[in-house]
Amino acid sequence: MRSSCYFRQKARRLKRFFARALREHPEGLARWFRAAGTRELRAELLDYDGVGPETADSMVLYAAGRPSFVIDAYTRRFAERFGAGRGLSYDGWKRLFEAALPPDVKVYNEYHALVVRLAKDFCRKSGPLCGGCPLNKVCGKRI
Ligand code: SF4
Repeated sequence: MRSSCYFRQKARRLKRFFARALREHPEGLARWFRAAGTRELRAELLDYDGVGPETADSMVLYAAGRPSFVIDAYTRRFAERFGAGRGLSYDGWKRLFEAALPPDVKVYNEYHALVVRLAKDFCRKSGPLCGGCPLNKVCGKRI
């Protein structure tokens, strides 16, 4: 359960984000996102207070519609157990997935959605349900 302090802090960060974004990009977010290059947009977003790599990639992928793979806790958990890597940094996981997938927004979207579904339905935080998991036969099960 998250405290009200957490949500107040989030709200303050969002206000600061939009204040700076509109100051530096009076053309508006949609035009800014359309005009910027993918890497440049990600780098600029990361410079904003409170925007970490997962948030920046989510904005680049979902709001700007550019191929930037999002790594979240679900992805890390499944990929570590599967045996794709261990203890990698955010950028390490990102590089690994981006090297294995075509740089396509629809593919990144779909893949991420499938990983989330897998992690919620089978590769649960405590007590993974390996027996019914569609990856059972190919998974390294590093649990
Ligand atoms: S087989 Fe088990 S550990 Fe491997 S991905 Fe499926 S639920 Fe996770």
